[in-house]
Amino acid sequence: MKPFIYTAQPSRVIFGNGALAQLSEEINAMGAKKALVLSTPEQRASAQKIADLLGSHAVGIFDRAVMHVPIETAREARAVARQLGADCAVAIGGGSTIGLGKAIAMESGLPILAIPTTYAGSEMTPIFGITEAGIKKTGRDLRVLPRTVIYDPELSQSLPVGLSVTSGINAIAHAAEGLYAVDGNPIMSLMAEEGIAAISRALPQIRQQSDQMAARSDALYGAWLCGTVLGHVGMALHHKLCHTLGGSFNLPHAETHTIVLSHALAYNAKAAPQAMVRIARALQVDSAPQGIYELALHNGAPVALKDIGMREQDLDKACDIALQNQYPNPRPLERSALRQLLQNAFDGAPPQ
Ligand code: NAD
Repeated sequence: MKPFIYTAQPSRVIFGNGALAQLSEEINAMGAKKALVLSTPEQRASAQKIADLLGSHAVGIFDRAVMHVPIETAREARAVARQLGADCAVAIGGGSTIGLGKAIAMESGLPILAIPTTYAGSEMTPIFGITEAGIKKTGRDLRVLPRTVIYDPELSQSLPVGLSVTSGINAIAHAAEGLYAVDGNPIMSLMAEEGIAAISRALPQIRQQSDQMAARSDALYGAWLCGTVLGHVGMALHHKLCHTLGGSFNLPHAETHTIVLSHALAYNAKAAPQAMVRIARALQVDSAPQGIYELALHNGAPVALKDIGMREQDLDKACDIALQNQYPNPRPLERSALRQLLQNAFDGAPPQ
């Protein structure tokens, strides 16, 4: 066994069909009485349902969460929380809404209760991101880690199939890179392998029947595991590339992860053989990169950056940005190999 350091992060998780019914109890347990409910405009009805469940313990709804947490939105939400005297934030939605909750918590220290409805995993991490003047800054701060997380698979039934597949592969990406993280540890590796297995067996079933509860439950369970890995260990090439492509070229988050992952794994395969064995075992395939590529392809997800808004003339610039900061990665960053990786991802070619 290689030496390791493991620090557990404090968060309380309530998981199960119908778990939302425990919301008021959980708000009480946090010692809070005035919840500000957060959502995107599209999930306003879900936010209203939360407010109704909380009754007099809900002081308002802020329904303007958007992707990448623009600083202006964060300021607005913080002002609303202050004006209403909120003593906690309840974020229902995906990474964008939970990210807004984190932006409020960063400044005010308000505890967050998160109710995730995608598989992105932000609810299990102390990582925040805020976008100012087009640049997304991210960092880690334990104050933004949601205090309590309610995972209710029933709430993910409405997640469209396409987004379910890409969000699921986004979650798998956290676990896959967690398996070769420079600060990895055996607990996170166990969670990572189990998380990949749970999500990869759920996605084809969700594609066949999107409201299948057993599959929705497996996928959300996997998302919890994969999000926990993201929150505990450092990510590498794959996440840096996706951050670059999303931040500098405005590509959609979950789709970008879905397309890049197989290529990032192929890039790292020889340098991280043990991780590849575990990913392949979880996917029940022979090759980890090919298995991820086929998981996307066979479930109708995009496999080419050119199909989600990337321009071929920007590939060189993306490569330059990705090379700007050196970061831990199993295989050193080599320009020509990285440029080829981006070309393959752009074209939708199988991972090489
Ligand atoms: P998202 O939160 O942007 O949601 C995408 C869309 O799906 C939104 O319109 C949302 O309202 C809708 N939606 C969500 N759940 C739904 C449901 N059950 N039914 C119907 N519609 C639903 O997408 P995401 O992929 O969850 O999050 C992406 C963002 O989160 C990115 O900005 C990313 O950087 C961030 N993120 C942060 C972390 C972290 O640890 N800080 C981790 C993962 C993702």
